[in-house]
Amino acid sequence: TPIPDYLEEVLAELRDVDDGATADYIPELASADPDRSALAITSADGSTYSAGDAEVAFTIQSISKPFAYAAAIMDRGLDGVLEVVGVEPSGEAFDELSLEGETHRPKNPMINAGAITAHALLVGPTTTAADRVERIRSLCSRLAGRELAVDERVAASELETADRNLAIAHMLRTYGIVDDPAHELVEGYVRQCALLVTVEDLSMMAATLAAGGVQPRTGEQLMPPEVARQVMAVMAAAGMYDAAGDWLTRVGIPAKSGVAGGMVGVLPDRAGISAFSPRLDARGNSVRGRMAFERLSADMGMHLFAAD
Ligand code: GLU
Repeated sequence: TPIPDYLEEVLAELRDVDDGATADYIPELASADPDRSALAITSADGSTYSAGDAEVAFTIQSISKPFAYAAAIMDRGLDGVLEVVGVEPSGEAFDELSLEGETHRPKNPMINAGAITAHALLVGPTTTAADRVERIRSLCSRLAGRELAVDERVAASELETADRNLAIAHMLRTYGIVDDPAHELVEGYVRQCALLVTVEDLSMMAATLAAGGVQPRTGEQLMPPEVARQVMAVMAAAGMYDAAGDWLTRVGIPAKSGVAGGMVGVLPDRAGISAFSPRLDARGNSVRGRMAFERLSADMGMHLFAAD
């Protein structure tokens, strides 16, 4: 079967799955149409295939974290980043208020504490809050191959209920992990999370990681290969919230999900894959997205640890 037909078939099979619920702690996300779903694949040579509601834009949310981590490494060097953010799976919820015992580093850049720290490390022409957002917006735009914009309504909505992320930022300040005012950091981080993307954008961004940092359509080297490797490895260890081990054994594709229902996966040297469906399971991962990834992994022999 041609790839687009196959993707349509996978989506059709999931059409009646209505388990889970849209994220409700961000008011604007709670009102998203829960029945939307889409899939996309971009191969490492730059061909994109998509199916379903591929034109629907949604906010990137936590899928911005691996890319902000990449930008932070490029801006500060890997050692500079490792000093303040670890690489261990946390086994805890994404928004847990916890740090490593002795160093007080957040355990990894995929949980909010680590992501807010990575966001704080971004460097623009000056290091104002707006410049940090622009740094990540412009990198994500080049990765996607088109200009991305921030959904200011979703950002404002999240800011109204951002107590937990503010608490995390205050905690980070007390240990000297970040210096900037907590509200500035959280506002910047929340705007980073409100970048609008489609599944095609996400598959292209993931394909760039898979291709060792080379944007497969423009041929532009957007990050050094060792940065892409670091990001993919951390996604494998900690990308799927507290379900990382379950995910890596079942699906075997380094991945990252976001609370708006997006999901990306990377197959080194082969492809970037993405899914979108807003109903989430108890751990915050898209229900249909997870099922689609399980199916793709099985049908296309994508499990990283499956010998062929
Ligand atoms: N902006 C969201 C938060 O920080 C992102 C969470 C997510 O996608 O997991 O709560």
